[in-house]
Amino acid sequence: MNASTGKALIVGGGVIGIACAHYLMRSGFKVTVIDQGSMGGACSHGNCGYICPSHVLPLTEPAALRVAIKSLFQPDAPFRVKPTFERKVLRWFWEFARRCRHRIMLESGHHLKAILDASMHEYHHLVKEESIKCEWKSSGLLYVHQTAKGMHEFAKTDQLLNNEFKVAARRVEGDELPLLDPALKTGLAGAFLYEGDAMLRPDHLCAEWKLQLQAQGVEFIEHCKAISIERESHRIKFVITSNGPITCDHFIFAAGSWSSEWGAELGIEIPIQPGKGYSVTMKRPEVCPQFPMLFPEHRVGVTPFDDAYRLGSMMEFVGFDQSIPDKRIQQLKRSAEPYLKQPWTEEIFETWYGWRPMTWDSLPVIGQAPGLDNVFLATGHNMLGLSLAPSTGRLLAEIVTNKKTHVDPAPYSPDRFQVA
Ligand SMILES: Cc1cc2nc3c(=O)[nH]c(=O)nc-3n(C[C@H](O)[C@H](O)[C@H](O)COP(=O)(O)OP(=O)(O)OC[C@H]3O[C@@H](n4cnc5c(N)ncnc54)[C@H](O)[C@@H]3O)c2cc1C
Repeated sequence: MNASTGKALIVGGGVIGIACAHYLMRSGFKVTVIDQGSMGGACSHGNCGYICPSHVLPLTEPAALRVAIKSLFQPDAPFRVKPTFERKVLRWFWEFARRCRHRIMLESGHHLKAILDASMHEYHHLVKEESIKCEWKSSGLLYVHQTAKGMHEFAKTDQLLNNEFKVAARRVEGDELPLLDPALKTGLAGAFLYEGDAMLRPDHLCAEWKLQLQAQGVEFIEHCKAISIERESHRIKFVITSNGPITCDHFIFAAGSWSSEWGAELGIEIPIQPGKGYSVTMKRPEVCPQFPMLFPEHRVGVTPFDDAYRLGSMMEFVGFDQSIPDKRIQQLKRSAEPYLKQPWTEEIFETWYGWRPMTWDSLPVIGQAPGLDNVFLATGHNMLGLSLAPSTGRLLAEIVTNKKTHVDPAPYSPDRFQVA
């Protein structure tokens, strides 16, 4: 069979599943996407909306262990790990901890850079030529520091980004900040503006992209849960879903944080843990930030949309916990107070949580499932799924069709987790 005339089923309609649908459809496939909820309704919905090639440094950095251990004794820490004896989770943290070394951080950083840059290139094409309306703004991402110490520490990171990864920023001194963005308070230490970054509204991106693909023949089925698979030797014959069996030629699992559940079913290891984050979306304050911003000292992100304003942050390893504690939302608001003249407004549109699909090496999982001829994975995008979606979709389609790939696929291969 000619691969590009086949039928493809994508399990998971987050931004990654939608991106895979786009590029598979462009490659000639008849594509169906199923989601147990609504398309773009999980982690891809309420995130910070940064498209950020500046985020090349993985979470597995030498200081991460210290932060994780400290968090065990600080219930309010933005990074929190709930103690557990679950074997799968302990193994994940062990593998994560082993990688928190400078050399490995740089190696992973280069692998992230390759796909971050390629994805930004794809976004320019998608937003301009395909006219996906998603509040795209290429104004850069502003990393603002309250204290001279924070600025001094970050200057070292900035130097590393520049020297090692050629990711350059414009340094802005404290007294220039209120001129650059009048929403910022006076007296702040300074900022670094990563002009190569952009922002968009994630829920609009998913909704618009889905609509465009639907108009071009992609089938989207919501509230349809994949339950199990029917195998025939080295292939999947069909996926059993809550709506009945679906037969296809190719099966792509883009199930975000739920992906590890498929490991046993597919007979492979997919080590993904949910990394929970929160956001609160409000009416825009009168003096609203013009730039999307990060406040690294308080670990909070600010995103100004056309008709809303969002604060987002936190990384909790607490399993699939669905609660939204009010103290976390209050913490988000408090974290923005040292920086912004009007850090929050009273009219709340949405409080939200999302489970980031976290791998222990901070790299996504894109490629053919080991030992299965017609099964592929596109998952594990950690804190960067929105930024990495277009290049992931393109790479996945290239792998399925055996074409020359636009980035080296080896670092993202699911093979890296399989023990011989
Ligand atoms: C607070 C916060 C801020 C963030 N900010 C940014 C940012 O600024 N920039 C950035 O690049 N990234 C950001 N991220 C990360 C980004 O949101 C994720 O990496 C990305 O959304 C992951 O996309 P996904 O499609 O893999 O997962 P999801 O969006 O979670 O989609 C997976 C889908 O699979 C479906 N599914 C699962 N199992 C099944 C099944 N059995 N059958 C059918 N359907 C199934 C689910 O219902 C879900 O819709 C942020 C995350 C958080 C929490």
